[in-house]
Formats: sequence, C-alpha cells, structure tokens
Amino acid sequence: MNILLFHPWNRFVMQNMDIQPIFNTTRHPILIAGPCSAETEEQVLATARGLALQPVDLFRAGIWKPRTRPDSFEGVGEVGLSWLRRVREETGLKVTTEVATADHVEKALAHEIDVLWIGARTSANPFSVQEVADALVGVDIPVMVKNPINPDLKLWLGAVERLYKSGIRRIAIIHRGFSYYGETQYRNTPRWQIPIEMKRLLPSVQLICDNSHICGRRDILAETAQKAMDLNFDGLMTEVHPVPDTAWSDAMQQITPEAYRHLIGNLVVRKASSDDPEFLAMIEQLRYQIDEIDEDMIQLLAKRMKLAEEIGNFKREKQIAILQTQRWNEVLEKGLRLGKQYGLSKAFMTALLKTIHQESINHQAFVMNEQLVREAENGLRRGVVFEEEESD
Ligand code: PEP
Ligand code: MN
Repeated sequence: MNILLFHPWNRFVMQNMDIQPIFNTTRHPILIAGPCSAETEEQVLATARGLALQPVDLFRAGIWKPRTRPDSFEGVGEVGLSWLRRVREETGLKVTTEVATADHVEKALAHEIDVLWIGARTSANPFSVQEVADALVGVDIPVMVKNPINPDLKLWLGAVERLYKSGIRRIAIIHRGFSYYGETQYRNTPRWQIPIEMKRLLPSVQLICDNSHICGRRDILAETAQKAMDLNFDGLMTEVHPVPDTAWSDAMQQITPEAYRHLIGNLVVRKASSDDPEFLAMIEQLRYQIDEIDEDMIQLLAKRMKLAEEIGNFKREKQIAILQTQRWNEVLEKGLRLGKQYGLSKAFMTALLKTIHQESINHQAFVMNEQLVREAENGLRRGVVFEEEESD
C-alpha cells in the first residue's frame, strides 16, 4: 500500500495544487446518479425523469463502455450524447459521461456535456490519461477522476496531476474500490485508507464515493454509502435504472429511482453543529484506518501461523525438534533491529515477538502431535489447541 506520509514530494503536491470544486452547491453530499450505460433514448429519459423529482446534482450515463471482456455491450456511442442533451433540456439536470480517448473528449465537448469523468481502467493507464488531458488543454470543464483499478495511490494522483497540468482546475476524485483476486463481499474492495490518503494530500479536492462499483450488488449499497458519509466524503455516485434487472451492463448493482430515493433519504449525514466537526471527522477517519490495519495484522498473523504449521509438518516427518534456538535468535534480532528503525521500543518488540513465537510453537506442536492430528481428522477437534482447552 502507498502510505507516503513523510515523503518530501507530498509537500510539493499539497502546497502547489489549487484544485477547485466541480460545483458550487450548498448541498452535502453532492449527488450523482443515472444508469451504468445509456441503452435507449427511452431508458435514459425514463431514468432522468425519475431522478429529476429528487435532489440530484448530476445525471450520469456511460456512452462508451470499457468492458472487461469482449462481446459485452460496449455502449451506444455518439448517439447517446444527444440523449444526454435531451435530459438536460427536459429536466434541467447537468449531465456527465465517461471519456477515455481524445475522440471521446472532442465529441462530448461538441455536445456540451457539463462534466467529464475518467474511468478506472483509463486512470490506470498514463498514456490514455495524457491523451485525455492533452485534448482538454484550453478547455474549462470539470473532470472527475476515478481511482485506478489497482490500489496505487500515486497512479491516481498522477492522473489528477496530468489534468491539472493541462489547465483543468475543477477536479473531483471518485472512489470506486479496487480489484481484488479472492473472496470478498465487494465487487471492488474499498480499502478506505487510500481515498482518505488522497484527500489528505489534496485537501481541496471533492471526494465522491461510487458505491455501485464498490458493492457490485444492491443489498450493501446503503451501508457503503453510509460509511462514505461517516468518513466525510463530499458526494455519492450511484447507478440508477428504471428496470435494473434488465440493464445491459452492471444489472446486479443498479437500483430504481424509487430505491435511490429511499437510499438517500435514509442516509445519516454528519451535521455541522457538533463541537468541532473537522476534528471529529479526522478522528473518525484515523480510527477507520486503525481498524483496517488491525484487520490486516490479524490476517497476516493467521498466515504466519499457517506457515509455522507447514514447518511443523516437515519437522514431524523428519523427527526434528520444534524449538530451534538459533532460528529464534535470528528472528528476535532481526525484529528488534527493524523495530528500532521504525521507532518501536525494544520492550514492546521483545514482548510482541515472544508472543508471536509462542503462538507459532503452539501451532507447530499441534501438527506434530500425532494424536491431536488424528482427532482433528476425525472431527473431534478443529483448529489449534488453545491454552484454555488444554487446561480442561
Ligand atoms: C461506470 O461508471 O459505469 C464504470 C465503467 O466504472 P469504473 O470505471 O469504475 O469501472
Ligand atoms: Mn457500471
């Protein structure tokens, strides 16, 4: 993960970027909603009419769709831009679409699209971001930058900087989660500490949560939006479709205008009336980061114990003793050296390493004890033997 807290280059970023809001609105949060893709003129207008009755700032619809695999619906293309124009004329909503090439930019500008956004696959590619940025030289239009699909804070920041260097000043960032190979409840895991760090580096940038692409499913959209509010995000981007199950892309995560009204209506938005909201928000953000680090630490410890068990298996086969004093000394020495380097006290490091080592020994002892292994195989015991169990 990219925690760049003390890098001098950060100070350069913070002091020099004068990023302005994409809108001047008194509403908090900023609300962006609309279908994943523009499919037909009727579907676009039906969604917009449903949303126009609600507090929405910006209507979204993808015209050019970057799809993970070929033969998926890749967007209606330029004709969709005229549908977005109709949305604005009919409902008064501002409109936004995704651009990935200079040609997209040129066409979107020709159709007077109000705001552009750069998608997650595009912001992962500096050549593409540069192409878009070059096409925007001399143009004053707000641009929203989604995080790249991979959890690389510098790449996200780099995309913002490329636009900034082209003269774009109204820039927002959109957190849409990160690709993850493995099991999670999310389509794209949120890793909240990354957008929080972006906001710390770029304090004036508006930070928007795309709960639809983080979740990939409807049932956790509301709790994810709430988490973004608790973390003091500036806005939400949510995919809305008149008949979500029939959507041509991202059907599982889209909701009806009615469900959207419900979701927004139930959000608890932080009130500005508490003692010092900025301070409270900061504490909240730091606590979330601490919770996430704790979770990572526990997962890593569990992984370490699995490795210790593998070693236990080898030792059992070769009839070798568990405690290898020389190895333990090496682990301890290395740990103390590293701890010192990171400003952690010797007493803390010693206690920590001893506890971890003891737990590793317990895990090894479990796999080396034939009797316990047999019992585990017979389903009499699950997992390792903990001290409380042994004292029974
Ligand atoms: C989208 O907004 O529909 C989209 C394609 O999102 P992302 O770039 O976040 O995958
Ligand atoms: Mn989508």
